[in-house]
Amino acid sequence: MADKKYQVIIVGAGPAGYVAAIRCAQLGLATACIDRWIGADGKPALGGTCLNVGCIPSKALLESSELYARSREAMADHGIRVTGVELDLETLMQRKERVVRQLTGGIETLFKAHGIDWLQGRGRLLEPQKVGWLPHGRKREKVLEAEHIILAPGSRPVKLQVAPLDGESIVDSSGALAFDRVPRRLGIIGAGVIGLELGSVWQRLGSEVVLLEAQPRFLAMADQQIATMALRTLREQGLDIRLDARVLSASRFRRQVKVAYQQGEERFEESFDRLVVAVGRRPNTDDLAAPEAGLLLDERGLVDVDERCATNLPNVWAIGDVVRGPMLAHKGSEEGVSVAERIAWGDAPAVNYEVIPSVIYTEPEIAWVGRTEQQLRSLAIPYRSGSFPFAASGRARAMGEGSAVGSVKLLAHAETDEILGAHMIGPGVSELVAEVVVAMEMGASAEDLGRTVHAHPTLSEAVREAALGVEGEAIHLFTPRRPS
Ligand code: FAD
Ligand code: NAD
Repeated sequence: MADKKYQVIIVGAGPAGYVAAIRCAQLGLATACIDRWIGADGKPALGGTCLNVGCIPSKALLESSELYARSREAMADHGIRVTGVELDLETLMQRKERVVRQLTGGIETLFKAHGIDWLQGRGRLLEPQKVGWLPHGRKREKVLEAEHIILAPGSRPVKLQVAPLDGESIVDSSGALAFDRVPRRLGIIGAGVIGLELGSVWQRLGSEVVLLEAQPRFLAMADQQIATMALRTLREQGLDIRLDARVLSASRFRRQVKVAYQQGEERFEESFDRLVVAVGRRPNTDDLAAPEAGLLLDERGLVDVDERCATNLPNVWAIGDVVRGPMLAHKGSEEGVSVAERIAWGDAPAVNYEVIPSVIYTEPEIAWVGRTEQQLRSLAIPYRSGSFPFAASGRARAMGEGSAVGSVKLLAHAETDEILGAHMIGPGVSELVAEVVVAMEMGASAEDLGRTVHAHPTLSEAVREAALGVEGEAIHLFTPRRPS
């Protein structure tokens, strides 16, 4: 394989790199993908963070823990009495691993079917059109050549000096996906996406969960009305979220982790069985390129790219978590497709960064796309909003009391009625947000959505009703008429 002539070599087989590889191969380009990931079974695995220790295993655990919590608590409302519900954590974790293996194996099958060479080991940019490949267990790097190189090495968790990981009691998100027993008390530093998702998993499985968040504002990146609803609901579920909490130290004492933190002028101490550090991720750029390659990084250590994902070097591209923009799997995949098409065709549609959906898979789910009200106000863009609560949705009511919470909010330009954003908390909103993404991609107005027939009874009717609400014309919610 080493002597083979490639048109494209990709470094990294996460959702950015493997999708780029598949699209390149579909477009007839001779493609290789170098990846160094070693899976839980000690064997090389495709799929990167997302499939191995990110999106997929976390969603598998969220699903299992939700089923467990529901069968213990939420069935009585439906007249179903369930007794003797027991947790078998080992089987639950084995299922998670099986799901991961099925999906990473699926990428391997796709690579074979497309004739993509999977080169296992470390890749490194040597110069434009040259990559060093160090196979696992070897000492000598092989030099490979390609017309184009795509860098997609992803990211890893940020470490905190005050809370050094020990791989057992103080762990990062990967550790928190693989506990061998349910911690009695679990501390989490960071109430961001990972903190909330993994905190929910362990709280449902029986842990007392405390989240220590440095920011005074909860989910600062989300629409603040939705964030306030989320904070109230998650606290009601038992997640103990403490804002404005600055961790001073964390260390192991006997079989406990002692954490000291400060809120305002006051200092507090807590004891946990396990502590998770989930304070963001940083790009994998330390050993990505030889210094003489001259690859430009920005001040945050991200590979510096333009809007087409082109780096400062000719025919060297970078995509995914290693470049600016949200660290989301679908964002990286989209960049992968765009770069592959640009290589094959010389030009391609740019990624529309304005319409990348975000989802937090708590229960209820939180999802959004486009601008928040805070952003529109600060940009002085005139807008109108329409909201619809799931309490008024027939389908949500039929699903159960627990489902009839939250709402959908739609924001539209006050003059043109173009949809500018949507913010949701409630049942199934991870799926509902896609409708607004499509509408925004098509440049639709709130009226377009409001006049589109939605099946009854479905959760998606809430999106339509929110769109009608922009004009104050929701059907299943009384809104006083706006003065004309
Ligand atoms: P990665 O997935 O990190 O893949 C990079 C690959 O490159 C890895 O296999 C790595 O080993 C390899 N690599 C790195 N350097 C080299 C090198 N020099 N040589 C060879 N190989 C190299 N995002 C979502 O959109 N939805 C979610 O639900 C979601 N859940 C998440 C849950 C958790 C717990 C975590 C941690 C993350 C989650 N994310 C989620 C974020 C998502 O995983 C990342 O945004 C995504 O994986 C980034 O894709 P990527 O291809 O850029 O990088
Ligand atoms: P995040 O940025 O979502 O949250 C980190 C949180 O930690 C923030 O609220 C931040 O204020 C807080 N924080 C930072 N330093 C702190 C400190 N010293 N003490 C206390 N709090 C501190 O990052 P994350 O949760 O680690 O997730 C990493 C990335 O993975 C995110 O960019 C996210 O997009 C992605 N991810 C996405 C999903 C999803 O799409 N559902 C799920 C998990 C992860």
